[in-house]
Amino acid sequence: MQTAAKRSVHSLLLDEIESFLAAQNEKPYRAKQIVDWLYEKRVDSFDQMSDLPQALRERLASEFRFGELETVRVLGSKDTTRKFLFRLSDDSLIESVLIPASPALYGERSDRRTICVSTQVGCAYGCKFCASGLDGFSRNLDASEIVQQLLAVEKATGERIDNVVFMGMGEPLANLSNVVRAIRIINAPWGLEIGARHITISTSGLAPQIKKLADEPLQSRLAISLHGATDDVRNRIMPVNRKYDLTTLLAACDYYASRRKHRIYFEYILIGGVNDSEEQAHLLAGHSRRIGARVNLIPYNTVAGLEWSRPSREIQERFLSIVRGHGVVATLRREKGHDIDAACGQLRLQTKRAEENAPV
Ligand code: SAH
Ligand code: SF4
Repeated sequence: MQTAAKRSVHSLLLDEIESFLAAQNEKPYRAKQIVDWLYEKRVDSFDQMSDLPQALRERLASEFRFGELETVRVLGSKDTTRKFLFRLSDDSLIESVLIPASPALYGERSDRRTICVSTQVGCAYGCKFCASGLDGFSRNLDASEIVQQLLAVEKATGERIDNVVFMGMGEPLANLSNVVRAIRIINAPWGLEIGARHITISTSGLAPQIKKLADEPLQSRLAISLHGATDDVRNRIMPVNRKYDLTTLLAACDYYASRRKHRIYFEYILIGGVNDSEEQAHLLAGHSRRIGARVNLIPYNTVAGLEWSRPSREIQERFLSIVRGHGVVATLRREKGHDIDAACGQLRLQTKRAEENAPV
């Protein structure tokens, strides 16, 4: 019982460790030693923190825990997209995806190694095209469960992550405080030291939280999953639009853009016969110009059991050239080999269903 109440040590900020030490009458420099063990040397127990007095190690262990992600499956290999399925301490399953070097989609230069992290178990927003929402929402991840996705992937691959996108399972802005805390740890010089401009949060359009995020002293980037340039189209595929319609969403984007120096990204999945018309392309370009947003077009990844499909290559290219024709900076994802590059949420769903159906 007591163990469950302990906070995970990977969810602590440096000043919180300092306060804890001060309350114990410990020397302040111990805090730096502790974060070095956590994020430089990457130990997985307090026992291994060999330059701390034994009594302090025991005190830390009685107060905090080391959460571990258990790796259930890894798909893919070096130089391709790799998917990691993790089991959390309460048996929930989450996914992370490691994407190898590719031309910059979110960062500034080449993205090098990008990790796509999950922020919730499941998702409550139920977009009609997405595997993550199919099974509903279970719970928020805490900051350490987000940070540990990076640690576990770096440990498993021996590679350093350069770029982080919050585009895995879940709606990051519905779990804002844990996401902001995780970003602080990922960004900190004493933590994982990944530059804020290499960290991108993606949202399906939670307008009030976009404004809240704009007021946070963070320099991370923001991507909006637009997927439709009119309320008609968004209402059809994204229930969140009935709560925050396009006008409300774009007003929140305006506010965000006024508070930050980096441009917003509009994510736009191309779904055949749903949002891929020329009219939508023109309207999308109009919204992008108004907000000063860049556009990332992503051909839809089919999800088993869902009716949607990706449009032909020709339609994708036409859509791109219309958007660009308005002077908007836009990219179209063209890589091949999308067999496992399917959007987050799918691997978990497969495994969960297989486990549910497995004979006991
Ligand atoms: N909930 C947040 C972040 C996670 S989803 C959001 O919706 O933005 C990350 C991205 O993957 C979103 O842009 C989402 O629309 C997209 N996505 C979901 N299912 C997809 C699919 N089958 N094919 C391509 N992209 C997909
Ligand atoms: Fe949730 Fe994003 Fe999937 Fe929509 S696209 S169901 S918000 S994870």
